[in-house]
Amino acid sequence: MAKRDFYEVLGVAKAASADEIKKAYRKLAMKYHPDRNPDDKAAEEKFKEASEAYEILSDEDKRAAYDRHGHAGVDPNMGGGGFGGAGAGNFSDIFGDVFGDIFGGGGRGGQRSNRGSDLRYTLELDLEEAVKGTTVQIRVPKLSTCEVCEGSGAKKGTSAETCRTCAGQGQVRVQQGFFSMAQTCPTCRGRGKTIKDPCTACHGQGRVEKAKTLEVKIPAGVDTGDRIRLSGEGEAGPNGGPSGDLYVQVAVRDHKIFERDGADLYCEVPISFADAALGGELEVPTLDGRVKLKIPEGTQTGKLFRLRGKGVSPVRGGGPGDLLCKVTVETPVQLSKKQKELLREFQQDMDGEGGKHSPKQTSWFDSVMNIFGDK
Ligand SMILES: [Zn+2]
Ligand SMILES: [Zn+2]
Repeated sequence: MAKRDFYEVLGVAKAASADEIKKAYRKLAMKYHPDRNPDDKAAEEKFKEASEAYEILSDEDKRAAYDRHGHAGVDPNMGGGGFGGAGAGNFSDIFGDVFGDIFGGGGRGGQRSNRGSDLRYTLELDLEEAVKGTTVQIRVPKLSTCEVCEGSGAKKGTSAETCRTCAGQGQVRVQQGFFSMAQTCPTCRGRGKTIKDPCTACHGQGRVEKAKTLEVKIPAGVDTGDRIRLSGEGEAGPNGGPSGDLYVQVAVRDHKIFERDGADLYCEVPISFADAALGGELEVPTLDGRVKLKIPEGTQTGKLFRLRGKGVSPVRGGGPGDLLCKVTVETPVQLSKKQKELLREFQQDMDGEGGKHSPKQTSWFDSVMNIFGDK
C-alpha cells in the first residue's frame, strides 16, 4: 500500500509550524485512539498513520529529510539511508510529549520519578490577616534528605550500586499490544540503584522524617482556596533526588461581623426602630476602624447601604470592593409599663390617620382581602 503524504495525513500545510503539527496530531490521536475505538481496525490504522506522520514531522531533522526525499528519506523499510523509522515501540514516548500537558504529565518516568512529592499545608487565617497580609511560621513534618548518607541510603564509606535489571534507569519496558509501556523496575523499585549495606540512620531510604519550620509571607488580599507555592520545600526525592514543592493552601476562618464575597464585604447592622423611623447617623465597623453611615428617615429592615472602597483589595488586583451594610430593624424587648403605655398611645395616634404610616402593611392587607373576596 502506498503511503499517504505525512502533511496530508495530519491535514496541515507544508509550511505548518511545529505547534500546528502538534495540534493537528493531538486532534487526530484523540479521535482515533484505540482506547476510544475498541476493536475498530480502521481507527487503529488511522491512529498509527497519524502517529507515524507526527513522529517524523515533529522532529526537525527527520522532517527536513522527509521534505527532501519523501518517504524514502525516513522509512527504513523503503531502502535508502533514512533516520530509523517510527517503530511501534516509540508511541508511548510520542504520547507522553503531546499529552503530557493534558493528562497532567508524569508519564515520562525517569527523572520525574526521582523527584520528591509535593506537599499541601492548610493554613487557617483570620479575615483581617487574609485581607491585610501577614507573615506566619509553619511547622511542616516531611521527609528530608538523610544527612548521614546524604540521601544515597548506603552506609557511610560504602555506596549504592547501579541496578543490573534496569541498568540504573529505574524502569523496564513492557510490550502491551502495540504500545511499549514503561514500568517501575521490580528489583530496585524505581531507584535505579541497589544497596548492599544500608545506612542505619534512614534504613537505606535516603530520607528521614523531620519537621521543618518555615516562614511564609502571605500577600494581602488572599482568600480561601488560594495557594502559595514554596518551591523545593516539599518532600525530598528518593535516592538524593530533587525535592517537591510545598503548597500552602489558605483557609479563611468565619468572621463574627463580616462575610466576604470576592472583593466585597457584607455585614448586618441592627438598628433601633426609633432610629429607623427618624433616620440619623450610625457608626458601622470596617476592617480599618469605624466609619459613619447616614440613614434616611423611614429606613426599612433589609435595606442595603453600600460603602464604596471599604471592601477588600483582592490579591490578583482589581482595586478594593465595597462594604455592604444590611440594616435590620430590631423590635424592642423588655419594655417597662410606661414604655408600653407610650407605645399603645403612639399606635392609637397612628391608627387614627389611616394606613399611611405602614405602606407595606396596608398593601398587604389589601391583597389578602382581594384573595378572599372580603371587599
Ligand atoms: Zn541515611
Ligand atoms: Zn532496577
